[in-house]
Amino acid sequence: MTEKPDVPVRVRFAPSPTGPIHIGGIRTALFTWLFARHHGGVFILRIEDTDRKRYDPGSIELITEGLRWLGIDWDEGPEVGGEYGPYFQSERTALYRQWANWLLDRNLAYRCYCTPERLQQVREEQRAKGLTGYDRHCRNLTPAERARLEAETGGQYVIRFKMPLEGSTTVHDMLRGDITFDNTQLQDLVLLKSDGYPTYHLTNVVDDHFMQISHIMRAEEWISTAPIHKNMYDAFGWQMPKIAHLPVILNPSGKGKLSKRSAGFTDGGRKVPVLLHEFREAGYLPEAIVNFLTNIGWSFGDDREVFSVDETIARFDLSRVNLASSIFPLEKLDWLNGVYIREMDPDRLAGLLKPVFEDAGYVVDDDRLRQVIPLVQARIKTLPDVVDKGGLFFRADFTPPPLDALIQKQMDAASTRTVLQRALETLDALPDFDAETLEGALRPLVAELGLKPGQVFGTLREATTAEPVTPPLFDTMAVLGRETVLARIRQAVDVLC
Ligand code: GLU
Repeated sequence: MTEKPDVPVRVRFAPSPTGPIHIGGIRTALFTWLFARHHGGVFILRIEDTDRKRYDPGSIELITEGLRWLGIDWDEGPEVGGEYGPYFQSERTALYRQWANWLLDRNLAYRCYCTPERLQQVREEQRAKGLTGYDRHCRNLTPAERARLEAETGGQYVIRFKMPLEGSTTVHDMLRGDITFDNTQLQDLVLLKSDGYPTYHLTNVVDDHFMQISHIMRAEEWISTAPIHKNMYDAFGWQMPKIAHLPVILNPSGKGKLSKRSAGFTDGGRKVPVLLHEFREAGYLPEAIVNFLTNIGWSFGDDREVFSVDETIARFDLSRVNLASSIFPLEKLDWLNGVYIREMDPDRLAGLLKPVFEDAGYVVDDDRLRQVIPLVQARIKTLPDVVDKGGLFFRADFTPPPLDALIQKQMDAASTRTVLQRALETLDALPDFDAETLEGALRPLVAELGLKPGQVFGTLREATTAEPVTPPLFDTMAVLGRETVLARIRQAVDVLC
């Protein structure tokens, strides 16, 4: 068991709006939210939008809508506000400038006047020596040198953090234990750019402090920034929040981590969704996605794979996070989605399926849809599957099957016609047209005609639906209704003549 937090839990999901959110980012949000909800804490959504070059305004809505759709609600953040706002970093730039200057005033940071040309030259020189990063040229300028550079550049400078030059930095990760970094590997990174905009490191540390974040949960790819941030917290004299780096999800190919760039990957000709909105468009249900994401990288225990979000909240515990990177098992999600569809209230399912049929060009009658739900509910894994499984019930025009489809194995036109004619007489005389009555009337016909059930029912299935595979035949015929069924059988007889 992970220890019970000794401080009020305030956690945040801090996406950068640089494009549509992918499922790996959503998993980070979900685990952070589950942690908050389990501990009765506060979940904050903070938009890290100070990288104006990569800013994509449309992505904010994709993030907020997507989280809401999944049921990941936030207590503070965009749209809901909160005491620690604003929650868009672009609206907090004065605060970041203030704290960069605070470091500067205490000689914990310095002005760097190096031009892009010089930095390029340094990069090349460093590369030749097998090194990376800035050479700290401006760290120890004399007052006279500084004054000269100040005049030469017209006051164009960036503010860099003074990293310790020796020793090591240890960060305690809640999942991984102590991780120690050699300080000589750390760079004097830029906190404030020459345009006055802060970098990720400054905004992240300042906000986590002032928003009183108690625990940071983020993807493993950020581990290398943890010692940087630890040194910044120390310089500010602030306590660093507890931190956990979550394992990443790998591409379905198993090569590389899942990212926005994984979009477009196909598996056996099928496009693999990567971005959250692609999952939604592909007909996955929010509860299945939440259950699925919880399963990847965390275990509910008791060998259970299907559990509700409330059950997860009650149990959620970081100690059961599995540190191995996991591959994205799409077939598992398909299966889970099918489970959730099967368990769904039929009226809700009807509401979800209607637009799917309509998008595929069908005109949907609500009464008929209600009759069709029990026939397709157990047969679809994603919502669009219903077009294939249930489209036959909403087809406006009907083309009779070709002869070779209509005539079943070891049958010919004459025997097929007999089946159809006998069926016509039988069905015409039925008092009711429900599945049970149909079955009671048609099964005896098989023996009477001396045929196999597959032959008789195959003929009738083709004649009435023009499809080789459908939901159970008697139910299908009952939903189609007597008039349609008889008309189609008559049409099939005509095909045979
Ligand atoms: N804005 C960063 C991101 O896009 C946040 C990283 C963090 O949680 O510290 O993932």
